[in-house]
Amino acid sequence: MHSIVIVGGGAGGLELATRLGNRLGKSGRARVTLVDRSPTHIWKPLLHEVAVGSLDINASQIAYAAHAHWNHFTFVHGDLTALDREQKQIEVGPLFEGEGGEGAEVLPSRKLEYDTLVLALGSRTHFFGVQGAEENAIALDTLEQAERLRKRLLQSCVKKGGLGLPEERGQVDITIIGAGATGVELAAELRRMENTLKQFGVLARNPETMMRINVLEAGPRVLPALPKRVSDSARSVLEEMGVNVFVATPVTQVGATNVELGDGRTIPTDITIWAAGIKAPNVLTSLDGIAVNRINQVRVLRSLRSETDENIFALGDCASCVWTGDTMVPPRAQAAHQQAMFLFKQLCARIDGRPLGTFEYKDHGSLISLGSSTAVGSLAGVSRSGKIFVEGLIAEFMYAALYRKHLMAVSGIWRTVFAIVGDRIDRMLSPRVKLH
Ligand SMILES: Cc1cc2nc3c(=O)[nH]c(=O)nc-3n(C[C@H](O)[C@H](O)[C@H](O)COP(=O)(O)OP(=O)(O)OC[C@H]3O[C@@H](n4cnc5c(N)ncnc54)[C@H](O)[C@@H]3O)c2cc1C
Repeated sequence: MHSIVIVGGGAGGLELATRLGNRLGKSGRARVTLVDRSPTHIWKPLLHEVAVGSLDINASQIAYAAHAHWNHFTFVHGDLTALDREQKQIEVGPLFEGEGGEGAEVLPSRKLEYDTLVLALGSRTHFFGVQGAEENAIALDTLEQAERLRKRLLQSCVKKGGLGLPEERGQVDITIIGAGATGVELAAELRRMENTLKQFGVLARNPETMMRINVLEAGPRVLPALPKRVSDSARSVLEEMGVNVFVATPVTQVGATNVELGDGRTIPTDITIWAAGIKAPNVLTSLDGIAVNRINQVRVLRSLRSETDENIFALGDCASCVWTGDTMVPPRAQAAHQQAMFLFKQLCARIDGRPLGTFEYKDHGSLISLGSSTAVGSLAGVSRSGKIFVEGLIAEFMYAALYRKHLMAVSGIWRTVFAIVGDRIDRMLSPRVKLH
């Protein structure tokens, strides 16, 4: 039986495994296997909400093992560590007791055979070699990092806010490096977190103990990938919220308690968050000669097939695929979703011996969430000029729709409806920020 192995159950990989399982796995036309280093899936764009405690991570995770059982594929827990293209085998590394690979071995390394391999490993933070950044700044790639950030934020607020010793009290300095979508959304979420902490007395209600949020961007404006009007609007919303925005301000060094800027200035910081730039995982550079670009992304043809091997495909953030001319498909959840839907059809065709098609990325625009009822963005293809500008509640509603679309693709309509209702009830009954 044809064996399809998908490595990475993120925004794209999980949607693909679910569709293929229900189409090919259920009817016995193929064996579908999903490999992931984590036992549970969380949609990555939710991580900044986890980091500020406004999202219950337990309610928003999907356990791969159960999901695989319901959707007719097999889940293998572990890290992709090696590839043998001649034997058509991948190696999944051993599993240890601790999340970070410490403790006793739970499972040894395993070999998995494939006829078709799909690499969907996503991306990690790119620190661009800035001194001290990797050691002192927190990135937002995984659930563990988001949880670590949430605890650090809470502890700093407790220590410097209303509950701390009088001599320790003061402003909580938070530095966000990078004013792309993640940095901007995080800054707005932090203000929301601050308001809730004041409500519960964790932060005193006076200006001396508030969060001082600095957003540093090396480029000339915030949200550099979006139209200028969206960027201007986002900046003014942030400034109205009391967030300090510095553009054309590269960072040269990140220390434990301060950040050095390109112009020689130094700003104090309690917590530094790195939200600038991505690269694909390093393991992709050692996969039996598979061609990758300078940020480790697998170089693929327009069919999403690897340039190097006709049995290997890649999608999402870890794939380098041409969009138009010399523009590449951007690393976004909507691109991963479209590529998963495309590959689903392609892999069904491949099994039937039909030729592969060409992936066309459709940019539906971008939306940026700025707190509880504000969002800004631009939508493509809905006006004659090609783009319209949206903000306020409509934009916020559309922003939420992106996640609903992902949930529908992996969980179907009824589970999505129950999840929305459950989430609404939970938000009515629980504090707006997780306090423990
Ligand atoms: C905070 C934040 C906010 C964002 N907001 C938005 C947004 O609003 N809109 C938008 O379009 N995009 C947004 N993005 C980008 C979006 O999350 C990514 O583009 C999208 O998740 C990419 O999907 P993917 O399937 O390629 O990879 P991912 O969703 O990252 O999934 C990769 C999977 O691979 C697994 N994996 C990695 N390495 C290995 C290995 N060696 N072995 C086994 N498994 C492995 C990981 O555990 C993970 O499950 C945001 C990203 C972040 C971090």
